[in-house]
Amino acid sequence: MSRSTGPPPALAGAVDGPRAARTRDYALARARLALAHGAFSAGFTLALLLSGALPLLDGALGSLGLAGAHRFTAFLVALAILGSAVELPFGLLSTFGVEARFGFNRTTPALWLRDRLQGLALSAAIGLPLLYAAHAFFDRAGPSWWLWLFGFLVLVQLLLAWAVPALIAPLFNRYTPLPEGPLRTRLEALCRDTGFRTRGLFVVDGSRRSGHSNAYFTGLWRPRIVLYDTLVAQSPPEELAAVLAHEIGHYLRRHVWKGLLLAFAGQALSLWLLSGLAAWPPAFRAFGFAGPSFHAALALAGLAGGAFTFWLGPIAAWLSRRHEREADRFAAREAGLGPALGAALLRLAAENLSVPDPHPWYAAWHHGHPTLAERLTALGAQARPYPRSGAPCDRMPLPGA
Ligand SMILES: [Zn+2]
Repeated sequence: MSRSTGPPPALAGAVDGPRAARTRDYALARARLALAHGAFSAGFTLALLLSGALPLLDGALGSLGLAGAHRFTAFLVALAILGSAVELPFGLLSTFGVEARFGFNRTTPALWLRDRLQGLALSAAIGLPLLYAAHAFFDRAGPSWWLWLFGFLVLVQLLLAWAVPALIAPLFNRYTPLPEGPLRTRLEALCRDTGFRTRGLFVVDGSRRSGHSNAYFTGLWRPRIVLYDTLVAQSPPEELAAVLAHEIGHYLRRHVWKGLLLAFAGQALSLWLLSGLAAWPPAFRAFGFAGPSFHAALALAGLAGGAFTFWLGPIAAWLSRRHEREADRFAAREAGLGPALGAALLRLAAENLSVPDPHPWYAAWHHGHPTLAERLTALGAQARPYPRSGAPCDRMPLPGA
């Protein structure tokens, strides 16, 4: 990243000097922590794979008399606990170090601990039955076990897409319906006019944990729209309408379903490859195991798989940027909210200290959103005077209607 001072030329006048300096310091602090985290994780993964610790753990579980599904589950749970334990310091450093230093953190140590314990209980409640089910498919479904397991996992994920917003997210945050008033009237009109059917507009108490602001929708059918209380407090109604129009664009352009189908395809391919690995003894001998087992195959694939799949990251980021551009275009063209979206993006970037113009190579590899400078330029080109064609937005003809 460039260490030059002052705002980037594309945003001159929009970002003041002190804020640009603070944005740079925040990005550098986060990048340093991410570099240390990445280096540590890589070292730890290599040590686990090459030290013989994995076969040692497996042997220890075997000598305790564990076999079959119990040994499978115990082995993977032990690895998951170890993995979470070594990640813990980096989570603490991020929340109470970097985020606190830049004034974003609002998580108290008590809330942090409660989140971890609740997360652990939830992982156990969902993860343990899943592990036993996975082993049952492997054990009893014959050579096409991976296909059966895949079908089962698809059903579980569709169920979770419903259960997460309805049952699980409320364990961690409070979701309240957006109160009656001009903002709600404006947003409901936007939903009506774009033909977007929602299960409701909610405000989430994101400020309990962080000063960062955001908006998103959850669910596959008639999603809920969720606005952070921090966003509602910071933004005028027209900018919130523009942010909502962007989210509606994602939904109506079927980005969620496209993403889900791609994820399912990736999972089917991974499980098929795993079925090949599980039946290939040399892979196990290479890492010190006496012979093939389903749990060793899962551990090896989980720990070493990244070395073969890292190049999928930039492809996913590229696809995500495409979707973001489509959603921006929807907000600008269909909802006539281009200028308001531009203002909202500028405000969000300033409040969240997001880097407005990262290095193009870095952005191409890592970023799921186009840079702020790109988005503002595109929105400027697509801007239609508001209200579009003389009709106020709430009486605009529905697209496709
Ligand atoms: Zn988006």
